[in-house]
Amino acid sequence: MIKEFSNVHIFEYNGVFLAIDVGTLSIFELNENMKDYLLGNKVDNQEKEMMEEELTDLLKKGYFQDSGKPQSVEGILNCYNISLQNTLECPLNCSYCFSKKIKSDPRIMTKQTAHDTLQFIFNTFDEKADSFEIYFTSGGEPLSNFPIIKQVYEEGIELSIKYKKRFKTGFTTNSVLMDDEKLEYLEDAQIGMMMSVDGTEEDHNKNRIFYNGEGSYKNVIEVLEKLKNSDNVCLNNTQALTVLTPDKGSYIEVLKYLVDIGFRKVNMKLARNTEKENPLMTKDMLDDIKKKYRDLVEFLTDEILQNRWKYVIPVMDQNNMLGQIVINMALRKKVLYRCDAGKSKFSILPNGDIYPCDFMSTLPETKMGNVYSGIDSNKREKWKQLTCLELEECKYCWARYVCAGTCYYSRYMNGNKPDLIECEMMKFLMERVAEMIYRIRCDNVGKLRHLIKLVKNIKVNSHDE
Ligand code: SF4
Ligand code: SF4
Repeated sequence: MIKEFSNVHIFEYNGVFLAIDVGTLSIFELNENMKDYLLGNKVDNQEKEMMEEELTDLLKKGYFQDSGKPQSVEGILNCYNISLQNTLECPLNCSYCFSKKIKSDPRIMTKQTAHDTLQFIFNTFDEKADSFEIYFTSGGEPLSNFPIIKQVYEEGIELSIKYKKRFKTGFTTNSVLMDDEKLEYLEDAQIGMMMSVDGTEEDHNKNRIFYNGEGSYKNVIEVLEKLKNSDNVCLNNTQALTVLTPDKGSYIEVLKYLVDIGFRKVNMKLARNTEKENPLMTKDMLDDIKKKYRDLVEFLTDEILQNRWKYVIPVMDQNNMLGQIVINMALRKKVLYRCDAGKSKFSILPNGDIYPCDFMSTLPETKMGNVYSGIDSNKREKWKQLTCLELEECKYCWARYVCAGTCYYSRYMNGNKPDLIECEMMKFLMERVAEMIYRIRCDNVGKLRHLIKLVKNIKVNSHDE
């Protein structure tokens, strides 16, 4: 490939050559000569002149070079996203849970610590921030310490008025401790909710089980039925959080099933390896995962082309691995950080210890401070500097401005190198999403505009991990 055109990724799709321009995230169709020329293969001299002329023009317009500004750290610091681990206890014993590895004394947050934590958040974090979002997401089951959720909601509203900041709160639950009393409280509150549900009863009960081995699916369905009758939009719009473990069947069927039983958003994400010795996801599973994702992207593309959005809208969310890629590529939004961990995203344990995120809180060496002693500013600075352009294997990768170097936790667990599965899947999905955009654009540009309009309105809300 000739030097100035190295910022392009070329691949074949159904007999045509598609190019993803790294600097602008534009998608082009190339003819064979142009493809050969860009890849540095031999081309006819006369053709070469014509192509050079065409390419010079494109270079002037900013294509095929590392142009355009990606996100800045200042943009991230507008909104703080705190995961409060109000408990590390849980009545379930799910196969991929990492909360048992977290060390904190006590393991259940007291009212005093919750109060002090809120004061810390509103008093300490950037004055420039417009909003604070506090979620009860990981660790144990948040509903097993429901008084803290109520306290944070009520005190948070008071503090947001005092400090003139926007404030939002929500939690992710496995549903097993939900009861009428809690639902009655939630009915009158503005608290977002996400339910962990892994698909059909059979799929769900493979991993989400009680200590006696019994599945928890029936609890999810009971709660979901009650939520359908709610007048509160927060409850009525409850999202599904679905972990794609290796035993999962068709991803299309998982999505259809969850939408059909009433979820408006389905945040599907691949299970993350938390054990070096005994990884849940291994290299030999990649072909199968890729096939299921390829089918899902083709299904969604067909749906869009048929003007059917029922199953498309639930996927379009920043908390959905595929949805996030579609959003960023459709909007040509370049990112430098995989997530806001350590910058404007933190996880706080029941004892007030502060970590970059919930997964990182399993690694005591990544602790950044405590709500009583503050955050180590040097550590925070290091997180701010950790863009994909600082990462050895990523700084020249064609996928860098969408992937941004994959999850920092997975990287840490993999000896500070990109996790192979995440890295391969990111490149694979970017190609499939480019095909999706190309197909829709060729077939009906109006549908592409509609998709862009749809994803533009999606709020960035990184409420889960
Ligand atoms: S993790 Fe892999 S796909 Fe992502 S930027 Fe790095 S090398 Fe590229
Ligand atoms: S993507 Fe990884 S590093 Fe970022 S918040 Fe999630 S688990 Fe943590």
